Amino acid sequence: MAWDFSTDPAFQQKLDWVETFCKEKVEPLDYVFPYAVRSPDPVVKAYVRELQQEVKDEGLWAIFLDEELGGPGFGQLKLGLLNEVIGRYGSAPQMFGAAAPDTGNMEMLAAYGTEEQKKRWLEPLLNQEMFSAYSMTEPQGGSDPNLFRTHAMRDGEEWVINGEKWFTSAGRVADILFVMCTNGMFVVPRETPGVEIMPEPRNHNHIKYKDVRVPLDHLLGPEDGAKVLAQRRLGGGRIHHAMRTIAQCKLAFDMMCERALSRQSHGQIIGEHQMVQEKIADSYAAIRMLRLFVLETAWKIDNTSTAEARTDIAAVKFTMAKVLREVSFNALHILGSLGTTDLTPIQAMYAAAPTMGIADGVDEVHKATVARRVLKEYRPHEGHWPTEYIPAKREEAWKKMQPVLDANPELKQSAENYKKYLARRR
Ligand SMILES: Cc1cc2nc3c(=O)[nH]c(=O)nc-3n(C[C@H](O)[C@H](O)[C@H](O)COP(=O)(O)OP(=O)(O)OC[C@H]3O[C@@H](n4cnc5c(N)ncnc54)[C@H](O)[C@@H]3O)c2cc1C
Repeated sequence: MAWDFSTDPAFQQKLDWVETFCKEKVEPLDYVFPYAVRSPDPVVKAYVRELQQEVKDEGLWAIFLDEELGGPGFGQLKLGLLNEVIGRYGSAPQMFGAAAPDTGNMEMLAAYGTEEQKKRWLEPLLNQEMFSAYSMTEPQGGSDPNLFRTHAMRDGEEWVINGEKWFTSAGRVADILFVMCTNGMFVVPRETPGVEIMPEPRNHNHIKYKDVRVPLDHLLGPEDGAKVLAQRRLGGGRIHHAMRTIAQCKLAFDMMCERALSRQSHGQIIGEHQMVQEKIADSYAAIRMLRLFVLETAWKIDNTSTAEARTDIAAVKFTMAKVLREVSFNALHILGSLGTTDLTPIQAMYAAAPTMGIADGVDEVHKATVARRVLKEYRPHEGHWPTEYIPAKREEAWKKMQPVLDANPELKQSAENYKKYLARRR
């Protein structure tokens, strides 16, 4: 019987290497040179490259990509275990060549790009010689792709794109933008005339595309295929976020427990007060449940496909947001006044937690997806009563047992006695 929760020892060694590398090299880098990967300083850049080479030498570069798409091909379960370590350290995904939004865009390129497109964009993205952004959401509505209006018109040897996008993360600093149009997914170099980036918001950009002309070969995948490409991109992105969210929850939990053992109040350490214990126990159970759910979903993707695991990916998506909100709140609360400052990571984590319920699709939409898909597995009952209506079940049981009772008069007598006894009790 295959039902095993242990990690293969050879892979555990890799996880241990990642843990030490992140603790010893990535975390200090985060504090001394925040956002080092994007630093224009050549000396910082060279140091980052040195660290990234260590990751490559370990065979851990671009860990999210399958082998046939140019990555190490760990699959989602192993990727989940890796992300559980990496997700604790701000810049670690970039140090492992696995940071959003580039990862999702690379997945689309790897899966749908022509050889020429892969050479032009995938290779430099993989090597971080180029950065990208994903332009899908529009100002008039993000949750419903049927409301999107950005469109590309063919004009001779070019596509001409017109439209407006909202919340394109890191659009301002991207070299290329993946623009979802009503009739296809297009790759647009940011410097193309007609790409106008609004001053606000600063990090998630509002971009106007006005008569933006790109050559025909900037269409990625089939014409009218944007929704399929977007699904592919977002499905992977959601489970990867969930894996890293486990790491964030664990960080919050570690801080909560350390504090519970370090502070005194009313004659005992606060970890001995029952209401603090309740927060610790609830958080522990919530993280364990989330972790199992995420890893099981990753395993499902490995053994079926992202499409077949869609119900669970959607359920994981809103569950991780909920668990992060609860656990980061509990941690912040147990840290008391210190928790409300920016002197530990917990305040920022709690403030950012609601974002997880919006980015990559709002909770409500994912819940509706789950409910709709789950209900497809059920049928309405016939007549007035549900299948589990007890009087009907009892009658059915008597019918089913009749041959056994007829063959055994003593048992039949006992059954009659039971019937009378139970009728009296009712
Ligand atoms: C941190 C962050 C990064 C992002 N990065 C990008 C990016 O790089 N590229 C990009 O294109 N987009 C990005 N987004 C945008 C994101 O995809 C959208 O915010 C999301 O799809 C929701 O769209 P909206 O913001 O327009 O909300 P709306 O669609 O206006 O929804 C607002 C609210 O209405 C309710 N609602 C909407 N639909 C339903 C429904 N069907 N049932 C019940 N209630 C509903 C919900 O309460 C919902 O929260 C990012 C968002 C965040 C927060």
